[in-house]
Amino acid sequence: MITWLSRFQRLFPFAGQPNGVMDRLGGRILVYVGVTFIVGWLALSALVSRIHEHLIMSQNERAVLLVTKSVASGLRTIMLAGDAEIAADFIKNLESVADVVDFRILRHDGTEAFLTNDTIRIVNGRLGGDRFPLRKKENKKQVLAKDSEALRKVLTTGREVPLYEQDPNKGTPLLTFVAPIPSQDECRACHGHTEPVRGVIKLTMSLAKARADVEKARWWIFGFGTLIAALVMTIIHLAVRRSAVTPLERMARILTTPENNTLNRIIPEEGCAEFRQVASAFNQMTTQLSTAWDRLRGEHDKLNTIVLGSHEGIVVTDRLEQVALVNPAAERLLGKSSDQIRAEGFLQLFNDPDHMQALCDDHQHELPGLAWFNNRMLQTHAATIFDANGDPIGSAAMIRDVTREKALEDELRKLSNTDALTGLYNRRRFDTALVEEYDRAKRYGLILGVLLFDVDHFKRFNDEHGHDQGDRVLKGIAEVMRSHFRSVDYPCRYGGEEFCVIMPSTGQAGVGRSAERLRQSIEKMVVDGLKVTVSIGVAIFPGTGKEGSAALLKAADLALYTAKRQGRNQVCHFTPGLTDAPQE
Ligand code: GH3
Ligand code: MG
Ligand code: MG
Repeated sequence: MITWLSRFQRLFPFAGQPNGVMDRLGGRILVYVGVTFIVGWLALSALVSRIHEHLIMSQNERAVLLVTKSVASGLRTIMLAGDAEIAADFIKNLESVADVVDFRILRHDGTEAFLTNDTIRIVNGRLGGDRFPLRKKENKKQVLAKDSEALRKVLTTGREVPLYEQDPNKGTPLLTFVAPIPSQDECRACHGHTEPVRGVIKLTMSLAKARADVEKARWWIFGFGTLIAALVMTIIHLAVRRSAVTPLERMARILTTPENNTLNRIIPEEGCAEFRQVASAFNQMTTQLSTAWDRLRGEHDKLNTIVLGSHEGIVVTDRLEQVALVNPAAERLLGKSSDQIRAEGFLQLFNDPDHMQALCDDHQHELPGLAWFNNRMLQTHAATIFDANGDPIGSAAMIRDVTREKALEDELRKLSNTDALTGLYNRRRFDTALVEEYDRAKRYGLILGVLLFDVDHFKRFNDEHGHDQGDRVLKGIAEVMRSHFRSVDYPCRYGGEEFCVIMPSTGQAGVGRSAERLRQSIEKMVVDGLKVTVSIGVAIFPGTGKEGSAALLKAADLALYTAKRQGRNQVCHFTPGLTDAPQE
């Protein structure tokens, strides 16, 4: 069918064009039905005309046979009358009959009778005397070959044999009957011999008229058939058009008419049952789709409002990793236009593809995703978006400006580690730092110094000068400490008027010198015309004899108490001999 169709389209290129005959349902049905009908009709016409021809020819054959038989009978009567000359006239007269092309009487050997004296001589010899006069002029003529099939058949079977031939001059069809002339008792009186067949009649008739009748009938069949075909095709065309093409065209027109909301299109439920079913199913489907679409659009609008109004930057890619959505917050936070972001691509959001790739690969969200960009601290979460089947359909990045939060967090962390009055590290930070530094010193075989000091007779100072004055002195001590120690040291307010300092990688001598300088500096310090002194205890790891950061602090405390006990305003180093003794 495809080959046939392509041949048809090659033959009629316009038919295969969009909206051409073969592109339209009506045209296609008409062509298919028309071609099928024409082919069928031609085959039927050929069969009918063939049968018709056969009938005419059979009828003709029967008629010629009857003629042949009656000629044979007539000839026999003439011959029995005993006058061969009349027989020759009879033959001549028969030849002049319309449609008789040739008529001859033949002997057993295929030669024409009544042209020579052979038979007359034999008959005269048998009857005696000159019963029949001899011909003056003889003319021997071989009409059928002696061994001809037709002749042999007629002589052996005694039945008529038909031969269909063509006139070599006119080209018209001819029907020849070779029929036997049975030999009867009366014949033997003259001819003598005993063969069942005395001779052969060869009668040839023209079939031109019969053939013309056949042709005429054939044209009638063809003409009538064409008329019927045209009528049937017109009826089919009208029926197909009315029942299928017109409803379909109406449907197509409604479906292809441009409207604002295509999902609101309703097809009229009319025509045949199948069309009503299709229209009904379509209308139900569009109604459901329309409802779903409205809901979806509502959700989309909500989502759009959220995305566009979000303070978080949102960048989304499609499944080809092309940037598909950039909200205004993302443009503002990244300092890039939407077009620039789209042009540069997802991995170039922070001009650092490795950072972005690491965030994309961080499925467990273990990375903080923090980075300074465009003078802001931005926190980014990147994720792959999956569809319902678990296949990736894009990526999304959510970017938050955490500059202020980070600053507050830093401030909070600082405050949580800082003493409010002095600005030094507080006890919490001290404890943490002592454990860290102790562990580090122990792991790497380093030395670690700790000094702990307490203001001498501070209760009395407060009592004499007031608590506020005492606070100002504590601030002054903190100031001295800040200027006194290295950046790697941890100067802390341990609590009340007690201070401590962690000095990493500093040995006995270094810590001792630093403690003594501090003591002297505080002793020289004058706050509002007033002075204080401090007592300092020093402990070094290793050297306390006990494991742990608490033991190191305890050792410094013992040394401090020793300094108090020994008269205050002095530095005392821990030695293993020192014991926990009450303060004086
Ligand atoms: P000692 O030489 O033995 O250390 O005598 P002291 O009077 O200093 O005794 P102690 O260390 O036990 O006294 C602590 C005093 O420190 C008590 C309190 O009046 C004072 N003090 C503690 N914290 C503060 C503070 O934050 N501000 C002020 N102004 N005074 C404080
Ligand atoms: Mg104290
Ligand atoms: Mg004190």
